[in-house]
Amino acid sequence: MSAPLPVRSAPARPIGATEPRDQPPGDARQAEIAALHARILGCRACEAAGHIPAARPVRHPWTPAQRTMIVGQAPGAQTEAKRYHFAGPGGRVLEGWFVAAGFSGDSWRERCYITSLTRCFPGKSPRGKGDRKPSPAELALCRPFLETELALVRPRLIVPLGTMAIELFVGKRPLDGVVGRLFEHDDALVLPFPHPSPVSRWLNDPAHQELVDRAVSLLGRCREDLEL
Ligand code: SF4
Repeated sequence: MSAPLPVRSAPARPIGATEPRDQPPGDARQAEIAALHARILGCRACEAAGHIPAARPVRHPWTPAQRTMIVGQAPGAQTEAKRYHFAGPGGRVLEGWFVAAGFSGDSWRERCYITSLTRCFPGKSPRGKGDRKPSPAELALCRPFLETELALVRPRLIVPLGTMAIELFVGKRPLDGVVGRLFEHDDALVLPFPHPSPVSRWLNDPAHQELVDRAVSLLGRCREDLEL
């Protein structure tokens, strides 16, 4: 018998799903999530507030079999154009981690519910490097969608990608202190990963490879133990 998963309790629980909720039957959840997705796709709050020139929200199809929730930062340009999360090079890195953990390369996207802190492409960084980080105002406008997703999807495993998403579930900490470790958040486990951008300095630092390998190994353990 394998050893229990090495879980640490998160010090903070800053986001939704803090109250125990009865799990609605699958078909009821289907209707609730369809209604949520309609609200997301119709949202223009950040455009109306002048944060972005045009809102084009992205949402991920849900199935009751999804027990893993991946939480990214915000859609990139390719995600906005192709209308699915992690459509760009970061998606290939992310897929590599999931395949290395034993998920099927053909179905890992269907096995997971993929979402992000905000659902519209925030545009390029004004400093010219990468995408602009969503502002606190944009995060606040979009957060109710994430809270409702957590309540309806009820994931067994949450995989936050990058410091902004990680902070919501385990508090503000350096990546070195959280990648390769497993945390508890209510009745879910939280397994932080760095943002999978292939140009990420943190990710490309050889000193961090062991932490990423450890996180991938834990993802494989979770896949088996939680039957993801
Ligand atoms: S980022 Fe979120 S809150 Fe802002 S317009 Fe898009 S869906 Fe609405």
